[in-house]
Amino acid sequence: MSLATMQAWAVDVPGPIESKPLRRIERAIPVPGPRQVRVHVQVCGVCRTDLHLVEGDLAPKRPLVVPGHEIVGIVDALGDGATRFSLGDRIGIPWLASTCGTCRFCMSGRENLCVAPLFTGWDVDGGYAEYAVGNEDYAYLLPAEFGDEQAAPLLCAGIIGYRALRRSECPPGGRLGIYGFGGSAHITAQVAIAEDMRVHVLTRAPEARELALRLGAVSAGGAADAPPEPLDAAILFAPVGTLVPPALEALDRGGILAVAGIHLSDIPPLDYDRCLFQERDLRSVTANTRSDGNELLDIAARIAVKVSTVRYPFDRADEALEDLAHDRVNGVAVLVNTSEA
Ligand SMILES: [Zn+2]
Ligand SMILES: [Zn+2]
Repeated sequence: MSLATMQAWAVDVPGPIESKPLRRIERAIPVPGPRQVRVHVQVCGVCRTDLHLVEGDLAPKRPLVVPGHEIVGIVDALGDGATRFSLGDRIGIPWLASTCGTCRFCMSGRENLCVAPLFTGWDVDGGYAEYAVGNEDYAYLLPAEFGDEQAAPLLCAGIIGYRALRRSECPPGGRLGIYGFGGSAHITAQVAIAEDMRVHVLTRAPEARELALRLGAVSAGGAADAPPEPLDAAILFAPVGTLVPPALEALDRGGILAVAGIHLSDIPPLDYDRCLFQERDLRSVTANTRSDGNELLDIAARIAVKVSTVRYPFDRADEALEDLAHDRVNGVAVLVNTSEA
């Protein structure tokens, strides 16, 4: 039994980010269990879900959990029976930590709906730490095309956004609305544009609108503006329920609105005629399957997705979350472990 310890961040008492709910702690370096690998964390992306967790929008699953589920690390220890990776491999540990493998959803290709899933940085400790462990079957080998900082955001922002895009059922060449333009949206937009979709971005931050246009969006307007043409599909990335009615109203007949976030503020009453009639659909996106993850990583490498990151040293994780809370991050915040490699 090792007595070695590491630095980590943990959720102390969830609450508004101003109340400093994230606490710096020292903790034993985790030991990988059966079929698990341990990585030395190089980079961990900062996801809005982390913010929901520290602020208490997501109920904590256990005390002092270490957040972070966009983990890029170098394998430095293998648990019993772990054979998929070798020491020294660079891998990604994502949000989906494990599923039961036996429920009706796991058995029908819908493991994202597993009745007993575990999530990284919520049920099990995540990557706001020097070391993290993950189940080898749920980790990814990362495309060599991406550096550590660029690869990290693909692991949740990229994968969940990709699932949202598929859930929106926007056809190739279709008209897609993207509401909110942070980390996940700016990756998803590039996939959509590569599939010849006409992307309209609706978001409040002027810098985000500029980034959208630079990446090839056809138009960029304010958060609740009407897009310049009716939409075949839309994705709501902003966790803002009041945007649901304008996004539904922007849909053409038969259009689909997919809500990408794990948390959404209250949706106001919907006017049936203006929002839903004509077979418009409102649907959620829940976690992802491993095939979503593999598809997104393949596509991202093939189309050379550009990931805008803003780097924070590991010891400023609290600041990164504060900046995210105040919309001050244009792209994806990533924590970079600068301790000796
Ligand atoms: Zn299951
Ligand atoms: Zn996430």
